[in-house]
Amino acid sequence: MPYTDHDRERLLPEPHKIGAERRSPFSRDRARVLHSAALRRLAGKTQVVGPGEGAEISGIPRTRLTHSLEVAQIGRGIAEELGCDPDVVDTAGLAHDIGHPPFGHNGEAALDVFAAPCGGFEGNAQTLRILTRLEPKIDDGASSGGLNLTRASLDASSKYPWERRPGLRKYGAYADDAGVLAWVREGAPAGRCSLEAQVMDWSDDVAYSVHDVEDGILAGRIDLAALGSPGERAALAAVAARDFGADPAALERAGDALVAHPVVAAVRGFSAATATTSAHVALKRLTSDLVGRFVLAAVGATRAAHGEGPLTRYGADLVVPAQARAEVALLKAVALRYVMSDPARLAMQTGQRELIAELGAALLAGAPEALDPVFAEDWHAAADDAARLRVVVDQIAVFTDAQAVARHAALTRPRCARTTRGSGPADSGTLDVCD
Ligand code: MG
Repeated sequence: MPYTDHDRERLLPEPHKIGAERRSPFSRDRARVLHSAALRRLAGKTQVVGPGEGAEISGIPRTRLTHSLEVAQIGRGIAEELGCDPDVVDTAGLAHDIGHPPFGHNGEAALDVFAAPCGGFEGNAQTLRILTRLEPKIDDGASSGGLNLTRASLDASSKYPWERRPGLRKYGAYADDAGVLAWVREGAPAGRCSLEAQVMDWSDDVAYSVHDVEDGILAGRIDLAALGSPGERAALAAVAARDFGADPAALERAGDALVAHPVVAAVRGFSAATATTSAHVALKRLTSDLVGRFVLAAVGATRAAHGEGPLTRYGADLVVPAQARAEVALLKAVALRYVMSDPARLAMQTGQRELIAELGAALLAGAPEALDPVFAEDWHAAADDAARLRVVVDQIAVFTDAQAVARHAALTRPRCARTTRGSGPADSGTLDVCD
C-alpha cells in the first residue's frame, strides 16, 4: 500500500525549500533527527552502563546514542524486506529513545515521582514532546513545531500511541500534548501501532537483548555457559517470565535452542583479558548471527501471514514467532540477572534517584534564573504551577548524566556538605567540600 499525502503531512506548513524535492519527505525526516542536538545528547546518557563506565575493562560499551544508531540500522533492514519506507523506520529508530532523561530508566523512575503533580514523566511521552515541540528547528512565529516530522514518521516513533491512563505504566503523550498525539493518530486504529512502529519496537528488543549480552560478555559479567546449568536456566526463565511476559514452555525451548547454537557455544569462557582476535571474531559472529536470526524470524512470519508486496502503515502487523520472542526475553533476562542486578549498580542507582529529586527541588526553587534561557522563557509563558513544574521536568530531561551531576553540584554546593556518592563515572567520586 503506497504512502499518501496524509502520511507525508507535517503539523506546521513549511515554506518551499530549494532542492528539497530531490529528497523524499521521509528522507528529510531522518536528516532532521540525525542532525538534532537531542540525538547527540544520547551520547551522554546511560544505556546499561553509564557513558565511559567500564571502558577500562570492556573497550567502549554502548551508549544510548550508539544503541539508537543500531536500532535504526536493524529497523532499516527489516523495512527493506517488508516494503515499508526504510527512512520512516530509520527515523523512528534514531528517535525512539530521544526522550530519555539522565541515568536511563532509573532516572526515568525518579523523574516520574518528581513530576507527579503535573502528570508524571515517561520517556516515550517525552520523545513525542521533544520531536514536536522542544527541539528547536521549525516554528510558525507563534509556536514551535519541534522537528516538524511527517505524520508517518511521528507515528512510527511511538510504541505507545495513547495518553496516560490509570494502571498503564507506558504511554506516549502527556495531557499537555494530547492535541499533537490526536493529529499524529488521525485515521489510525485506536491502540494499534503502525507497522513501522512495530518494526522499530522489535528492532529495539533485538538490539538491546543481543548487544547488552555482547557488552556484558566483554565486561566479564556474562558467560552464556550459564544457559546450560539447570539452576541458572530456571532462574533466568523466571526473570524472563516475570519481567518480559514470556511463556514458560517457549522459554524452555528457547534455552535449549540457544545452548545448542554453535555461535553460542563458541563464546563460552570468553575473557576480554586474554581474548585473541579469533575469540573476538567469535563474539562478533554471535552478535550478528543472533540479530540476523531474530530479524529473519519476524520477516519470514510476517511474509507468511501477509504475502508478498509492500507492507506499510496499517496494512499489516509484524508477526514475531513465540520462539524468537522467548529467545530475546531469555537474553534480556541474562543481562538483567548478571549485569543490571549487581549490588554495586543498585546502590549507585539509589544515589542517582536522590540526585534527580534534589536537582528538581533546587531548579524549582531557583527558577527561572536556575534554568537554561530557553526553559526560562517557557517558565515565564507557563500559566500555572503544573505548567511551571513541567518546564523544570523538560529541563532535567535534556541533561546528560554529566550535566545533571554538574548542575546538581552547582545548585546545591553552597548549602550542603556532600560526601562521596555513587552517581556514576561523571561524578568525580571525591569528597565535595561545600563552601
Ligand atoms: Mg531503545
